[in-house]
Amino acid sequence: MTGLALPDPVLVLLIGPAGSGKSTLARRLFAPDEILSSDAFRAAIAGDEADQRATKPAFAALGRALERRLAARQRTVIDATNVRAADRASYLVAARRHGIPVAAIVLDLPREVVLARNAGRERVVDEAVIDRHRAALRRTLDEGELEREGIDPIIVLRTPEAADALGWDRMLA
Ligand code: GDP
Ligand code: MG
Repeated sequence: MTGLALPDPVLVLLIGPAGSGKSTLARRLFAPDEILSSDAFRAAIAGDEADQRATKPAFAALGRALERRLAARQRTVIDATNVRAADRASYLVAARRHGIPVAAIVLDLPREVVLARNAGRERVVDEAVIDRHRAALRRTLDEGELEREGIDPIIVLRTPEAADALGWDRMLA
């Protein structure tokens, strides 16, 4: 097992293409109330998590919920792709304003794994969308953007086995 030792409170950014297993991992590691999911906010607003017209109000509502949780110093996980610096910027600003550290769990899995998972997903996403997410993630990792953003720790999972092996380290948590 790879031990997850995070400060508390912390803001955790899940980072990964659609279909990489972010929501599944979040459910295994965190309590439901700790997880702010962009799909869940889209579903709440549009009645449909795939409705891209709801994206702007969904992220606005997610941002307000994040603000409330950070102000209350509650551990929070953002379950969204978060692959571009622009996706992460507002979360970093909010966490810094509240003096709460930011961690990242990155699902950088092989393309065939993501495509297979996507095919089995409740809502199948276009392959081209996943490739766009993967390209953005590549830039983020290759250019060391997460380090530059002050995110620490940065946990990068490159295989399904590594993702499965990630669990809480009770000694350190
Ligand atoms: P997200 O789009 O990144 O949130 O990915 P999801 O968590 O929705 O997972 C996408 C699909 O892959 C779902 O059908 C999951 O059941 C499946 N999946 C996610 N994690 C795992 C895993 O660790 N093992 C296996 N076998 N399937 C997984
Ligand atoms: Mg998801």
